[in-house]
Amino acid sequence: MLGKTHALVAVLLTAVLGFGIIEAGIAAIFSLLPDADLPYSYAGKVFPFSLAVNRKYGHRTVTHSLLSLGCVSAVAFFLYFLGIVGLNFAKAAILGYSSHLVLDLLNPTGIPLLWPKDLWFILLGGRIVVGELTEQAVFWILLVLSAGYFGIECFGFTNFGFGGGLIGFCR
Ligand SMILES: [Zn+2]
Repeated sequence: MLGKTHALVAVLLTAVLGFGIIEAGIAAIFSLLPDADLPYSYAGKVFPFSLAVNRKYGHRTVTHSLLSLGCVSAVAFFLYFLGIVGLNFAKAAILGYSSHLVLDLLNPTGIPLLWPKDLWFILLGGRIVVGELTEQAVFWILLVLSAGYFGIECFGFTNFGFGGGLIGFCR
């Protein structure tokens, strides 16, 4: 998936789950991290090790595995237990990273969840091709839905049965 789709889905997930705007930003950032193995991705442009990881392992390998998710989760909770970050930071980071992996499972390529084992997984038939019409459609549908959702919640029309998750988001 494209970075914008990952970030949008991460923001929407945090909103629906009742997190605040800060956590939404954290989730969005962490939703971009797995693609640090691509030098031209958002994360790849920031992280200096991007090219080295790409050359050694390729795209969608170590950073798209349960191993990397476990490491990110462990570091996030370690920082929480040290009192450096809050619990919601840790949860948002893990949520963002996880959402990336789930979205990439929807692509025909899939991801090697059990890396270093070379076993690739897809979800729902892997029908969403990166950057092509299906992903663009998913992105724009999510964007329009979220604009409506945020609009309803943020402008005080909260009695539409959508739940209260986004109320805190708009304060
Ligand atoms: Zn990816």
